[in-house]
Amino acid sequence: MSNPVLSIIAPCYNEQDNIPKLYERIIQVMETIGETWELILINDGSRDRTLEVMMDTHQQDPRVKVINFARNFGHQTAVTAGMDFASGDAVVLIDADLQDPPEIIVEMMKKWREGYHVVYGVREKRLGESKFKLWTAKVFYRIIYRITDVQIPLDTGDFRLMDRRVVDAVNAMREHNRFVRGLTSWVGFKQTGVMYIRPPREYGETNYPLRKMLRLAMDAITGFSYFPLQVAIYMSLFLAILSMLAIPIVVILRLTTTEAVLEGQATTLAVLLILTAFQLFFSFIMGQYIARIYDETRSRPLYVVSDTYGIRKKNKHHRVIGPHTREEDEEADD
Ligand code: UDP
Ligand code: MG
Repeated sequence: MSNPVLSIIAPCYNEQDNIPKLYERIIQVMETIGETWELILINDGSRDRTLEVMMDTHQQDPRVKVINFARNFGHQTAVTAGMDFASGDAVVLIDADLQDPPEIIVEMMKKWREGYHVVYGVREKRLGESKFKLWTAKVFYRIIYRITDVQIPLDTGDFRLMDRRVVDAVNAMREHNRFVRGLTSWVGFKQTGVMYIRPPREYGETNYPLRKMLRLAMDAITGFSYFPLQVAIYMSLFLAILSMLAIPIVVILRLTTTEAVLEGQATTLAVLLILTAFQLFFSFIMGQYIARIYDETRSRPLYVVSDTYGIRKKNKHHRVIGPHTREEDEEADD
């Protein structure tokens, strides 16, 4: 079977109600585009009927393919698996909850045909999301933009089209704590954005609680910036200057008055507490980097596949742990 032009990748965690609707809208969009396509659904350890719904859709339409993870590995890892298995000339990453309107793919394909290698969706507006989410997202994107070494465009999520060249380049990077949009910016190539309005989730609830958002932010920062490690040097310079000023003052006070210095115990305690807090904070930052170094040195697989339906691994850079790692499968594939 020849490769499709477009591979659409949708990571799914408890999305049983959204999958039929997603499938329907993709069918409509792809009919207007008139190119061959595949839809790769990754079941990221869902606890509802997501897998059953996926298999039904696959049985009904073999262009729908299923990767079933052995457990929940997280959104970014699910996207990575989709990219490893995708065979299209271009790949689109899309959320399963219809917050990334499939209709935008038309415009993305047009830009791709014009010669762009990455076409990312820029969220012009986000509807139906809490003030807290809007604010954290805004702050997050701006911090990342400021302190990372690659220029990750503002207000873009993972919704994007990537040329096969970009997909292969990103697939060759097997780092564990993945920030996919950072990796796709890092590789370079010709990139452009298309604006879209992000609607609220169709069914279900967000699977990104604060804990996961912080984790993603840490991965983005540690993956693409040394800034947090370098902050300590500014702090120490500041404190060095402060103590150069303070020490003579203390000495003079000690010599000229009898009580001023003795009475300063509360100040001493406060300074000590603050400095200790800073030290612990920087130990935490270093711990974050060290933990990630540890992750990389263990070089465990990024994910474990339990089953696949209608699809085989395409990425040659990576061993996939799961039923389809057998040699004959890989050979039969080419
Ligand atoms: N998702 C996933 N694994 C997870 C969490 C989320 O595959 O552990 C998927 C989810 O099904 C959805 C996409 O990632 O398709 C984005 O998640 P969500 O809509 O919960 O995030 P939000 O849009 O609220 O940021
Ligand atoms: Mg969502």
